[in-house]
Amino acid sequence: MPTTVMWFRRDLRLADNPALAAAVEAARADGAEVVGLYVLDDALWRSAGANRLAYLVESLAALDAACGGRLVVRRGDARTVVPAVARSVGAAAVHVAASHEPYGRRRDADVERALADDGVALVRTGSAYAVSPGRLLTNAGTPFQVFTPFRGAWLAHGWRAPAARPREIPWAAVPSDGVPTPPPVTARLPRAGEAAARRRWHRFLADGLAAYPEHRDRPDLTGTSAMSVHLRWGEVHPRTLLADLAAAAAGGAPGDAVATFRSELAWREFHADVLHHHPDARTRSLRTVVPDDAWATGAAADAAFEAWAAGRTGYPVVDAGMRQLLGLGWMHNRVRMVTASFLVKDLHVPWQRGAAHFMAHLVDGDVSQNQLNWQWVAGSGRDAAPFFRIFNPVTQGTKFDPDGDYVRTWVPELRGVEGARVHQPWRLDPPPAGYPAPIVDHAVERRVALDNFERARR
Ligand code: FAD
Repeated sequence: MPTTVMWFRRDLRLADNPALAAAVEAARADGAEVVGLYVLDDALWRSAGANRLAYLVESLAALDAACGGRLVVRRGDARTVVPAVARSVGAAAVHVAASHEPYGRRRDADVERALADDGVALVRTGSAYAVSPGRLLTNAGTPFQVFTPFRGAWLAHGWRAPAARPREIPWAAVPSDGVPTPPPVTARLPRAGEAAARRRWHRFLADGLAAYPEHRDRPDLTGTSAMSVHLRWGEVHPRTLLADLAAAAAGGAPGDAVATFRSELAWREFHADVLHHHPDARTRSLRTVVPDDAWATGAAADAAFEAWAAGRTGYPVVDAGMRQLLGLGWMHNRVRMVTASFLVKDLHVPWQRGAAHFMAHLVDGDVSQNQLNWQWVAGSGRDAAPFFRIFNPVTQGTKFDPDGDYVRTWVPELRGVEGARVHQPWRLDPPPAGYPAPIVDHAVERRVALDNFERARR
């Protein structure tokens, strides 16, 4: 029986999956079967962090069930595994959604060459974005540097309607290594899989969208969609979300809520576009904002970093965020900004070190979103927050966690402190037992950061 291969990567779903639709259509035309393949890439397995791996395993189990138990999971280097599978099943083509991250692009180019040696095509259809990174350019033909015009061009460009879920996919029965055992994790991870993503999204549309502009900056409320992890693994495509938002708007959902949520999705696409054009932004600052000697080094920097990572800086909203990351593998966006700013501008530790810690724990950890958001906070990215905008952890806490509920949820040492007083425990007499005093004075370190910034400008 002839076959065609659907190689799943960051698109662990059957609905609105144009690459799968293309594979099924090609198979139907040839009277062929479809081999659904997932390669557990050694390089990614080594680097992904236990939370992301555990989530991936559950998502693969859900996809396998949706494929009637026919998902073929193979472990190894995709450069050798994919051509070997294609050869063994006599595939005419391998279908994928295009990768845009530096590693994925290199890997796909190598796989494409290896497949070509056997006369097999790598067919790319769609991507993990509504508008593929690299497609939008300014009128001058250059990549966008600034978010707002990018978003304008993105909205004007538009996107296709969601692709229909293929009916009755003729999955081939091919031996599989099986879905692996997940690594042990201590974090409470969200339910994985396409059905869980849909459920979460529909709940948000019904209960969360209308208040999104008002609630989205409040870590003490369930005010955001929690879709980042599902988007990260492609359990849902952003085009599906955008189509549902348009339908919600037509059905009377508040226009500002729809526009605000769409704008957040545009940020996701902007960061992916920046990384597409600047693959080295994964590790290198796009702009120098402080002199090289401004960064803390040695044992003092290590101790400060460890305190930050463990949620023991003595600044409650920072510590709550860092402990939320350890507890859930996820952190609220506002608190991601505050904790990242604190590391870079109060502790003077380079953003790359914080980004690596986030990537080790985030279940939605995504190289374009994580690295470029870190660069945004550090002031070194495209259209980033200016370096001199330094988050004050006390002001941020009292503004966005006004009653202190978020802090008390994640910092048990402070549970006995009522109301907003929880944001300045050093003012309490006696100070709460077991909770550290601030490891630095924010006012002093803010001055140091601004002086460093001035030195770089001079
Ligand atoms: P919602 O508020 O419901 O937003 C809806 C969707 O819009 C999100 O799912 C996400 O896809 C997108 N979005 C929202 N905010 C942003 C943003 N600032 N940048 C890009 N897209 C956004 N997001 C990741 O997906 N992976 C990461 O690794 C990641 N690392 C980050 C690191 C730092 C330092 C910062 C400041 C932000 C990071 N973000 C990352 C962006 C953002 O924090 C998360 O996408 C968001 O918190 C996810 O929660 P949500 O789905 O409930 O968001």
